[in-house]
Amino acid sequence: MANGEVGYCGIRSAQDGRIKSASTTSHALLHYYLDPHVTNCCNAYFCPAGTGCGYPRYAVRPGPEVGYYNLALFFYGCSFNCLFCQNWNHKVLSEAKVVSAREIVDLTLGNSRITCWCWFGGSAEPQLPFALNSSRMVLEECDKGRVVRICWEWNGDGNPALVKRAASLSFESGGNVKFDLKAFNEPIHIALTSMNNDRVLRNFELVYREFYEARRDVPVLGATTLLVPHYVSEEEVSAIARFIASLDETIPYNLLIFHPDFYMNDLPVTPEKQVWRCYQEARKHLKNVNVSNLHLLGWSKTCLS
Ligand code: SF4
Ligand code: SF4
Repeated sequence: MANGEVGYCGIRSAQDGRIKSASTTSHALLHYYLDPHVTNCCNAYFCPAGTGCGYPRYAVRPGPEVGYYNLALFFYGCSFNCLFCQNWNHKVLSEAKVVSAREIVDLTLGNSRITCWCWFGGSAEPQLPFALNSSRMVLEECDKGRVVRICWEWNGDGNPALVKRAASLSFESGGNVKFDLKAFNEPIHIALTSMNNDRVLRNFELVYREFYEARRDVPVLGATTLLVPHYVSEEEVSAIARFIASLDETIPYNLLIFHPDFYMNDLPVTPEKQVWRCYQEARKHLKNVNVSNLHLLGWSKTCLS
């Protein structure tokens, strides 16, 4: 960055010959809200909040945690620039509030109905030091035995050492890490997101190798892919599913039906045939495949059986 310029994610800038960050370990640019369970979290189809798995250690009920809340923590800024971004308001940094770690920790300590934190946005990578610090604070300050799961919904391209610390918090608390595997073939990934996917795939494997085996009954890792019409077809989904299966065929994989947004607001909703072919392709390699946003097609779960 030249003097006066702002970096790609929008969080850092060069001023007077130094790099300045709008985010520290104690303060970050985000907004937050309570999201009643069962939420539309991409991993709610298998997580403790959606299913009660891991009860009583990781869930407050043996079934869906109705009556409880996720604290949704929406970061501004992202290290990718996806043409289809469905949360593109993360780019409007001028609207971001500066929130302290103390504020969200105190909110959680004072509301026993909060059972998880979901870091998303934007994506958590540019502000990971803040997320790691406040997640550690809440786990240390909560009453012993209270359920507060730490989850991440991200592009997965973070610094590997920080990614490992983040996944470790999920592992310890009953939470999970959701990687958006946007495409497998690099040219398509670059075309859609502006970045290659080397580090994303390596980080996915890192989280799998460090944590998955030790908590198979409450999966600590899942993947999602947005079915962008004409770009992310069954060839891409097949390659992603084979990559996941090369680690473990039980890792949950969620296919998301696309709706037009941001620069791709001239595309249709994912065509039914594409959804069906991608689902069938993923099922050839993986045991736990889900499809979300079925309402966009007027489908229900029974359409997939
Ligand atoms: S934040 Fe985690 S535990 Fe909570 S609903 Fe989402 S995936 Fe489930
Ligand atoms: S990684 Fe997610 S938040 Fe970031 S630009 Fe892509 S879709 Fe948007």
